[in-house]
Amino acid sequence: MTTETVHVIGGGLAGSEAAWQAANAGAQVVLHEMRPTRGTEAHQTDRFAELVCSNSFRADDWEYNAVGLLHAEMRRLDSLIMRCADACQTPAGGALAVDREGFADAVTAALASHPNIRIDRGEIVGFPSDWRHVIVATGPLTSPALAEAILSLTGESVLSFFDAIAPIVHFETIDMGVAWRQSRYDKEGPGGDAAAYINCPLSRDEYEAFIDALLAGEKTTFKEWEKVPYFDGCLPLEVMAERGRDTPRYGPMKPVGLTNPHKPGEKAYAVVQLRQDNALGTLWNIVGFQTKLKHGAQTEIFRTIPGLEKAVFARLGGLHRNTFLNSPRVLDGTLRLKADPRLRFAGQITGVEGYVESAAMGLLAGRMAAAESQGRSLTPPPASTAHGALVAHITGGHLQDGDARSFQPMNINYGLLPPMDPPRASETGRKFARNERGRARKRLMSVRALADLDLWLQAPEVQ
Ligand SMILES: Cc1cc2nc3c(=O)[nH]c(=O)nc-3n(C[C@H](O)[C@H](O)[C@H](O)COP(=O)(O)OP(=O)(O)OC[C@H]3O[C@@H](n4cnc5c(N)ncnc54)[C@H](O)[C@@H]3O)c2cc1C
Repeated sequence: MTTETVHVIGGGLAGSEAAWQAANAGAQVVLHEMRPTRGTEAHQTDRFAELVCSNSFRADDWEYNAVGLLHAEMRRLDSLIMRCADACQTPAGGALAVDREGFADAVTAALASHPNIRIDRGEIVGFPSDWRHVIVATGPLTSPALAEAILSLTGESVLSFFDAIAPIVHFETIDMGVAWRQSRYDKEGPGGDAAAYINCPLSRDEYEAFIDALLAGEKTTFKEWEKVPYFDGCLPLEVMAERGRDTPRYGPMKPVGLTNPHKPGEKAYAVVQLRQDNALGTLWNIVGFQTKLKHGAQTEIFRTIPGLEKAVFARLGGLHRNTFLNSPRVLDGTLRLKADPRLRFAGQITGVEGYVESAAMGLLAGRMAAAESQGRSLTPPPASTAHGALVAHITGGHLQDGDARSFQPMNINYGLLPPMDPPRASETGRKFARNERGRARKRLMSVRALADLDLWLQAPEVQ
């Protein structure tokens, strides 16, 4: 079997996992990492897979938690990141937390001693024409020169340097007895119909209380290098409210063009709109609600919105320094750049968010690049698995206005997996309470995910 070299750029969570997987699959790998010759604003060391902030890989519960499910899948796929995390655990209750130095040392040692991996320290600023198989895993702090090189291939508008994330709600937790579906003025857009939005009405008193809470709510602060330039098109909601108590009411919360079928005679003082966020219709983002409020404050304040009292958030809002592609637009279903399929992307730069999700995308990219370097092709696991659901979301499952205009980074969550309905009653014949049913649904989806992953692993092209 002839194999061509796989070049992995970036030795963070995604690049380390990608190099390991490609090398284990028999590919010759060069892992390019710019540290320590050039640093980033957040990394402190020259080690691979350095955790730049928290030391937590979040919940380690495969049955009832989507990131726990991702852990379980990664373990089945012989993940280096999970192996080292498991070996370097620190006490953290139900979460998987690690001794960050021990963890990075373990990853570095494994990569440095792998016979198929050569480590090359230095900044990569372009893509030499004789590199046939490249994985770009340079993360949220991709060096400016490489970002330029990517932009020259993709065009200006597809690489973002800041994210502006609005909270995302699980559809099943929205009270449709209060909220209703309608597009403003019943307009049918290019990708939507006259009932494309979910609307939540606020009375004057509710709006005033909401603005008070927004102004008083605790906000996160930026580090000096993180300072996010606010664009008028995507101001944080609380900044809008600081500019004038009525500003949100003339912006994302404007009540015009909408009639509440639950109370047709009553005009709402303000309306919060949610827009479908994924093709499955399980996730809805709150339009224009990008925010720097702390997570606890967001949950508390957004649950005062009529219809969202019991909202469960798939992710909360935020604004961060980040570098990510508009993946639904520019990547194919195997994470390759449509404009130059030699290049495959992995990690945070693809629009996933978090250590675990980034490593998972590295894992698949490494396997797929290794297969190609050996003249084979490999498709990702099905969208019913956590890995497959992430790939499907970032490469096409995301849906807003019928296209990828407002793609923003995403954590793994059950809303990305095709829904399953548990039976209405438990095995004893007793009716499920609402939260029990939610748990039963998660477990069903987790069991299905692991079974489908095992089937995928048995396919001849994966062997
Ligand atoms: C300040 C900050 C705090 C964060 N906190 C958390 C957190 O608490 N929990 C969490 O889950 N996620 C957090 N994240 C997100 C986190 O960065 C990702 O989850 C994860 O590190 C992404 O993995 P990655 O491999 O895509 O990127 P990284 O882990 O950042 O790895 C990218 C690597 O590429 C290298 N590189 C960049 N450009 C080049 C180049 N041109 N040539 C060669 N090498 C290059 C970098 O030096 C780096 O080693 C945080 C991000 C930031 C910026």
